[in-house]
Amino acid sequence: MSRKPKLAQAPPQLPVRVLDVTPLGDEIYVVGLSAISLPWMPGDCIAVYAPGSAQSRPYSLSGSVHDDRLELWVRRFPGGLVSRTLCECRPGDELEISPPFGWFRPGMPEGADRIYLATGTGIAPFLSAIRSGTPPPREFHWGVREPLHIGTTFQGLPLSLHVSRGEKKTGRLTGHLSGIRIETHTHIYACGLDQMIEQVLSHFRKRGLPESQLHSECFFTA
Ligand SMILES: Cc1cc2nc3c(=O)[nH]c(=O)nc-3n(C[C@H](O)[C@H](O)[C@H](O)COP(=O)(O)OP(=O)(O)OC[C@H]3O[C@@H](n4cnc5c(N)ncnc54)[C@H](O)[C@@H]3O)c2cc1C
Repeated sequence: MSRKPKLAQAPPQLPVRVLDVTPLGDEIYVVGLSAISLPWMPGDCIAVYAPGSAQSRPYSLSGSVHDDRLELWVRRFPGGLVSRTLCECRPGDELEISPPFGWFRPGMPEGADRIYLATGTGIAPFLSAIRSGTPPPREFHWGVREPLHIGTTFQGLPLSLHVSRGEKKTGRLTGHLSGIRIETHTHIYACGLDQMIEQVLSHFRKRGLPESQLHSECFFTA
């Protein structure tokens, strides 16, 4: 008797409307989308489909779980299939997305002594955690290539900005790791470029933190 292999069902494609697209500089855009009626957690992503295609890319949600809209921080790659579409959208355009999914949990465990480290759009899951009610981390390091137009987004947060290029260059985030104090119960969360994540994880492993306290999500490979 021949047995047909079971095919995994493709996730449903949910329609959303683009509400606004705000350039922050250095090819990074904040994209506002209409809400969906499914619950999600800080650290979750949605897959955004290229128009008229079954191809999609994941993007981390950056807003509060309590907002009546979804928000993404997207780096635009000029030849990119989905990032270019997202950053060049206009309010009112329609897109299709997947239900939220994810494993990176910057808000967990509750009550942890937290250190957040992000490069570029890797800031998104951390913003979502803080905006959704997770207490700010003890230290919050963000590496960007150039200063961005971020207004008051990070007001009141213990943010250390590290600019790696141009006139306002202050150095790389990874140059500051040895200055970060850790306790036996400290949890490290790193998100963004693979090179930064590898350096961060290896640094804190060497200083004795166990794997269960090292959390990461890679957006981009250099
Ligand atoms: C779990 C997860 C979450 C993510 N969340 C976010 C997010 O919140 N925000 C965000 O901006 N991105 C995020 N990404 C990355 C995102 O999913 C896409 O990979 C990215 O937007 C490129 O997709 P694209 O379709 O535009 O480019 P593609 O069509 O895949 O690539 C086309 C061309 O773009 C260029 N390109 C693509 N990727 C790179 C790269 N890494 N470096 C240099 N050139 C490149 C290359 O020239 C490439 O040939 C996430 C990735 C993962 C795995």
